[in-house]
Amino acid sequence: MAEQKRDYYEVLGVGRGASEDEIKKAYRKLAKKYHPDLNPGDQEAEHKFKEVNEAYEVLSDASKRGRYDQFGHAGVDPNYGAGGGFGGGFGDFDFGDLGDLFGSFIFGGGRASRNGPARGESIRVALTISFEEAAFGCEKEVAVDRVEQCPTCKGSGCAEGTAPEVCSQCGGSGQVQQRRQTPMGVFSTSAVCPKCGGKGKIVHSPCKDCSGSGQQRRRKTIKVNVPAGIDSEQTISLRGQGNAGRNGGPAGDLLILINVRPHELFRRDGSNVWCDAPITFTQAVLGGEMEIPTIDGKVKYTIPEGTQTGTTFRLRGKGIPNLNGRGRGDQYVTVNIETPRNLSREQKEALRKFGETLKEHNYEEQKSFFRKFKR
Ligand SMILES: [Zn+2]
Ligand SMILES: [Zn+2]
Repeated sequence: MAEQKRDYYEVLGVGRGASEDEIKKAYRKLAKKYHPDLNPGDQEAEHKFKEVNEAYEVLSDASKRGRYDQFGHAGVDPNYGAGGGFGGGFGDFDFGDLGDLFGSFIFGGGRASRNGPARGESIRVALTISFEEAAFGCEKEVAVDRVEQCPTCKGSGCAEGTAPEVCSQCGGSGQVQQRRQTPMGVFSTSAVCPKCGGKGKIVHSPCKDCSGSGQQRRRKTIKVNVPAGIDSEQTISLRGQGNAGRNGGPAGDLLILINVRPHELFRRDGSNVWCDAPITFTQAVLGGEMEIPTIDGKVKYTIPEGTQTGTTFRLRGKGIPNLNGRGRGDQYVTVNIETPRNLSREQKEALRKFGETLKEHNYEEQKSFFRKFKR
């Protein structure tokens, strides 16, 4: 059921800058229009209704809306792209928001069932690494508080030697049918079973280690292989390392958001590295070999005679390895001439004498500068 999700703002028919009020108004209008009570058996309306609810759930929550604006669907739904279609949360939708007309309606659909397998939530953690660790990859550990299956009862929630009883009222489905008289006719809807609360089973002697929930929250240390070439704002996903699923559902993922500490010398632009290097006045004039720091260590580079300040040189293949494992970026070095300070009287005298020997053709840029000025 891999669906291409529509933009939430488009679903509600509002602009990206819409106020809370505008969003609420648009939602109420559409939720009434597509409500299953008013469109019995209409698949299209049912789909639209879910879509509208999902869009509202995100856009009515300031923090979710912020994440959606920044990252799109992937920012609010960890299942997005994993073929999950509409994510969780729908079963808990608060119909009170629609007003009295639909106040007690509970949406009857297979996926809203509370005792079916449910995927565990994904967990997000941040991991800060150094510039070099990002460049060459590293192995790290992250500590995660996550929900795991209770090892004592293996998730059943029952004390040793006992088993859960199938709920007699709903026969294990967790839902009961209700016929309701409404101004628009009689409707059959399904509601959560009041006896078992939707679980479909009743645990008489709960497991003492998890109080019958079948799950325990535990702190785990998880190894992460950080690939060479990763950059800030990128995420490493470890499938199935998030919270445990319920009723046999798969576990969520562990999403590790990478933050790379800035480097004292290097700046990064994709897979290229930039740095500034001071050179002496003499080096600039006469040229010569100089040492340049790279992420691999120092390398020798020969600068040409008459190098001007602000000139950028390229060191091929000295940048960051590409994330796909093929090739590396380059390093760009911008040289700046450091004017000598604290000269002795003799040095100044020598420089003055040297200055007097210089001719116009020693200063090409100054010559053309003044020529332009005269024009
Ligand atoms: Zn247990
Ligand atoms: Zn029941």
